[in-house]
Amino acid sequence: MKKKTDNANKKTIAIVGGGCAGWSLAARAEQLSAQSVTLYLKEEARPSHSWGFWQMPWLSDAILNKKAKWHNWQVITEEGTVNHHSFTHAYYSLKSEDWFNWCQHKFQLANTKKQIIKLPVTSTERNRIITSQHKKAFDYIYDSRPPKAEKNTLLQHFKGIEIKTLNPVFNSGVATLMDFRVSQENGIHFMYVLCYDAFTALVESTFFGPSPHQEEIYDTAINDYLKRYYNLDKFEIINSEIGIIPMGEVKPFDCNPFLYKIGSNGGAIRPSSGYAFSFIQKQIIHFLNKQTKPLTPHTKFDLWMDKVFLEVLKSNPKIAPSLFFNLAKALNGDSFARFLSGEGKIWDYILVISSMPKWLFLKYAFKVIIKKEKDS
Ligand SMILES: Cc1cc2nc3c(=O)[nH]c(=O)nc-3n(C[C@H](O)[C@H](O)[C@H](O)COP(=O)(O)OP(=O)(O)OC[C@H]3O[C@@H](n4cnc5c(N)ncnc54)[C@H](O)[C@@H]3O)c2cc1C
Repeated sequence: MKKKTDNANKKTIAIVGGGCAGWSLAARAEQLSAQSVTLYLKEEARPSHSWGFWQMPWLSDAILNKKAKWHNWQVITEEGTVNHHSFTHAYYSLKSEDWFNWCQHKFQLANTKKQIIKLPVTSTERNRIITSQHKKAFDYIYDSRPPKAEKNTLLQHFKGIEIKTLNPVFNSGVATLMDFRVSQENGIHFMYVLCYDAFTALVESTFFGPSPHQEEIYDTAINDYLKRYYNLDKFEIINSEIGIIPMGEVKPFDCNPFLYKIGSNGGAIRPSSGYAFSFIQKQIIHFLNKQTKPLTPHTKFDLWMDKVFLEVLKSNPKIAPSLFFNLAKALNGDSFARFLSGEGKIWDYILVISSMPKWLFLKYAFKVIIKKEKDS
């Protein structure tokens, strides 16, 4: 195969992996100023799920494709409920298939030579292809294959079901981001409830812990919750989604420096929350606009704060509900949305820090610093 193109301004580009980051970049193929864009996809089923995010300036394309939005959301614990409202930073839900369809459509429209290659089924063959011939064949390879979580990384693991009821029971005016009024015996646990209309909702049992559970643990938790708070025991399941998201440092799928890492492989998952969709878009738009290589979309300070927060959570899981409650209580809707989207202002950080138990956080901040010193 031929190395580099004759035209100095036009590049040959490969994108590896057809998930959120791979397709989000392919949709912007036009901005890559490429002679050709080749997408390497692994053949596998892609179950439908939803992405939640707060409205931010870099998310206009996602907002165009939204399924629903809420200007109000809440965090509930046994201590009480925090209600947030935001006019500017509404919370959105986007169906993965709608986003992929939009990305595929934009990719097809791009004025560049396009190619989609389905990778071999066996993993050794698949990975050999990416690391040998292709280094020579392309100017840039963007790699979105999933990263590996470091040992002892806390995982966010969940199962959600989208249900339809016979009677109108849901309040579609408010999104429940965290409801901790559920059993905590299997780890830090809350329900995430997005009501699309009075009859339809996504109800997700979410845990933070070292390893995923058997499916029946999530199922039982969801059924108990629906019975207890919505008096529901009959409903139709329209869809279900499961996920495992690492909350902490990850190692790229392949550390080779000639690969440009993007998406979760490029550190886009926000460690303390598991949110990634918004950060993936932010990362891609940033490097396309600045014509740089992809960088982490998080600030060093956010990553450091998240590290301390996660150390506190890991060692003190029982106080998790009150930590999230106090954090939500300290902020209003706008500052909460900004903080969780990596756009916190100094005042937001002061409010967050002052809402946390000082001595506990100081203790773990020192532990994180000492560990870093030892590792380096
Ligand atoms: C069910 C679920 C719900 C989520 N909800 C939210 C949410 O509400 N909000 C939010 O912000 N984030 C959410 N996330 C987290 C995050 O947005 C996703 O994990 C996001 O899809 C990450 O995108 P990615 O492209 O980095 O990785 P992926 O989407 O996982 O894409 C990786 C791609 O690489 C491919 N691949 C794997 N191995 C190979 C190989 N050897 N060769 C080639 N290709 C390979 C895979 O087929 C896949 O297509 C959710 C995640 C899940 C799973």
